[in-house]
Amino acid sequence: MENLGYYNGETGPIEEMKVPMDDRSSWFGDGVYDATISADHIVYALEEHVDRFFNSMALLKIEPDFTQKELAALLSSLVKKVDSPVQMVYWQVTRGTAPRAHAFPQGARPNLWIFLRPWKTADPARGQKLVTVEDTRFFHCNIKTLNLIPNVLAAEDARKAGCDEAVFHRSGRVTECSRSNVHILKDGVFRTAPADSLILAGIGRAHIMALCGKLGVPVDETPFSVQEMMAADEVLITSSGVFCLAATHVNGMPVGGRAPALVGRLRDALIGELWDYIAARGGAARRGGPP
Ligand code: PLP
Repeated sequence: MENLGYYNGETGPIEEMKVPMDDRSSWFGDGVYDATISADHIVYALEEHVDRFFNSMALLKIEPDFTQKELAALLSSLVKKVDSPVQMVYWQVTRGTAPRAHAFPQGARPNLWIFLRPWKTADPARGQKLVTVEDTRFFHCNIKTLNLIPNVLAAEDARKAGCDEAVFHRSGRVTECSRSNVHILKDGVFRTAPADSLILAGIGRAHIMALCGKLGVPVDETPFSVQEMMAADEVLITSSGVFCLAATHVNGMPVGGRAPALVGRLRDALIGELWDYIAARGGAARRGGPP
């Protein structure tokens, strides 16, 4: 099987899956999701992602009818059913199926969706081009909800500008990107926006911050401005899908490129962690690059 769709226990090729029109995602985007990749048919950082997913559900007051352990076991078994060892592993839960009415439907059971598609991590040698976009999102960015319209619009702005990602800024501070976190390196310090309700606390962000600690790189969670980003030694984006990529341009102007050795150390350490995790769970102990 090349890709896989799952909906409440049914599986099949994504193109053939059908879902009920009254699923609350259709009317309200009423759900939360999480995503990571698999390598060697093993889901990477599974426990952290499932943990965050349960936290997102709790913040949206969605009561799951499955446990963290059951979800983890399900995802681990599904990634073995697809051909490619490297997959985007995406799952979401919606509040259930009910006629359109804003308040929570009484007695509806949550719907669990999963998809798996082959994934290729972006080439870290290619510098990222970014555009800045005003952050007009709501104050629940810490919850990984399905409500991603501003992110969709920002990603389209980036695409139209021939760029890879859009950097949100709000009231003078850089928050995050449309589908990744953004950080800067300045004078040997790793600076990243604080994990408040204006950003999603990325698992890639958590990993790179922990690695900074191990490598003796100070971490500063004070918000930074667009101007500080433009003057940084390096501008980095992280996510579970891209690991760590350095930007070369923001709004067409050159940025970063002044601490490439440190970027390389951080990226190698991040990718090294992935292969250690996979090897510890019976996969190949491959070295030397992203999956
Ligand atoms: N911020 C946003 C808005 C995202 O959508 C994502 C990933 O989907 C991230 C940050 C990075 O999160 P993670 O590192 O957990 O993939």
